[in-house]
Amino acid sequence: MGQSPSSGKPKDRIRRATLRAVLLVAQVCFIVATLGTGYAAYRAWQVWAAFPVHAAAASDASQRIGIIAGHLDNDSGAVCPDGLLEVDINTEVANRVARMLRLLGHEAEVLSEYADALTNYRAGALVSIHSDSCLPGRSGFKVARVVNSAIPEEEDRLVACLYREYERATGLARDEATITVDMEQYHAFAKIAADTPGAIIEIGFMGGDRKLLTKHPDRVARGIVAGIACFLEPAAP
Ligand SMILES: [Zn+2]
Repeated sequence: MGQSPSSGKPKDRIRRATLRAVLLVAQVCFIVATLGTGYAAYRAWQVWAAFPVHAAAASDASQRIGIIAGHLDNDSGAVCPDGLLEVDINTEVANRVARMLRLLGHEAEVLSEYADALTNYRAGALVSIHSDSCLPGRSGFKVARVVNSAIPEEEDRLVACLYREYERATGLARDEATITVDMEQYHAFAKIAADTPGAIIEIGFMGGDRKLLTKHPDRVARGIVAGIACFLEPAAP
């Protein structure tokens, strides 16, 4: 019996067919492995992106909020005849504000009055907390931003939010008439990055508002947090 040259012997045909089958299986395995690796990487990215903490860290500093505890690590600030210190009130309130902001998902930090970190500080907002003198009978709070602001509309909005929410939370009256040059030319405003919105709040008088400042620091902190939240989320009611 004759056989065509192309067909070869039966053994060779079987060998070639086996080789083709092995190569095909190898190719299929390679394609499946490639697709599988790609899909696994895609899923890993999806899981990573679902965590806002990672996304924020990768994007910018806009989620960070800086809170200056007025006079911290520098001096006592105002002092009352009975020894009550402004720095203690400011620090208590600043720590509460930072804790509340963290509970709301922000990356908040308390800074001392002259913290090195303030140089070119970048954040979604920087708020400095101070208290007014121990003059008996004086009451009220006030908020200010730097006079020569690089972002006046943004900073005006931060100031307006703090005024509205702090007034609502504490019931204190606005004391805008006694805003000082020290507030409008506050040293930290000259240090932070020009695009970081900054404001300083005098949360009340250690004289007339002593009970609020010392017995209800939570209410004081809530007012400041609500003001910051109002600024960060303009769409919120
Ligand atoms: Zn002060």
